[in-house]
Amino acid sequence: MFKITHYRDKCIGCFACVEIAPDRWRISKKDGRCTLVGGKQKKGIYHVDAHEEELEENKRAAASCPVNIIKINGK
Ligand code: SF4
Repeated sequence: MFKITHYRDKCIGCFACVEIAPDRWRISKKDGRCTLVGGKQKKGIYHVDAHEEELEENKRAAASCPVNIIKINGK
């Protein structure tokens, strides 16, 4: 398992993460930001524990985020 963290309030809705890891990221029609699938919110920050097989694509999603708000295991 590894941890994904999403600082959603800073999301600019570019959807790079959605294209790279569509099983974990969705476009929200409500506010135009993306949503971390399965994420639990704590003080506006979303967290989820994900399986190892999702690690590589979510690392790529994090690296592609232009505002650097996706963290993998806190990095
Ligand atoms: S890549 Fe970053 S800014 Fe773009 S939609 Fe995903 S979380 Fe938001």
